[in-house]
Amino acid sequence: MKTKHQGSCLCGNIRLEATGTPSSIVACHCKDCRKHTGAPVAVFVDYPKSQVRFMGEHLDQYESSDGVYRGFCKTCGSTMTYQGENLPDMVHIHLGVFDHPDTFKPTEDENTQSKLPWVCILGP
Ligand SMILES: [Zn+2]
Ligand SMILES: [Zn+2]
Repeated sequence: MKTKHQGSCLCGNIRLEATGTPSSIVACHCKDCRKHTGAPVAVFVDYPKSQVRFMGEHLDQYESSDGVYRGFCKTCGSTMTYQGENLPDMVHIHLGVFDHPDTFKPTEDENTQSKLPWVCILGP
């Protein structure tokens, strides 16, 4: 039986369950992710859509640039997902959404040209 990973927004109105091992776990240092999360860096757990089930309230989407959709809970404001038309079969879930985020560890940095100088995710 495959491992199931549960997650939710802060208020719990939107819940999700991801099944199995993610395709990748990536730390993104771009400005848009920083703005959307309010955090210095966004860490995404990437799953094929077929392995993720959403439950509860509707996940609202904000189109932050052409074909890029950022999912959030309209009740509590939690940032939850990133979906891009360039990878239509994938859903990128913010690490902090998961009930046990310690299960996941990023293996890759993205957009490091915009990285804040004091942020150290994968370094020593
Ligand atoms: Zn919520
Ligand atoms: Zn980003």
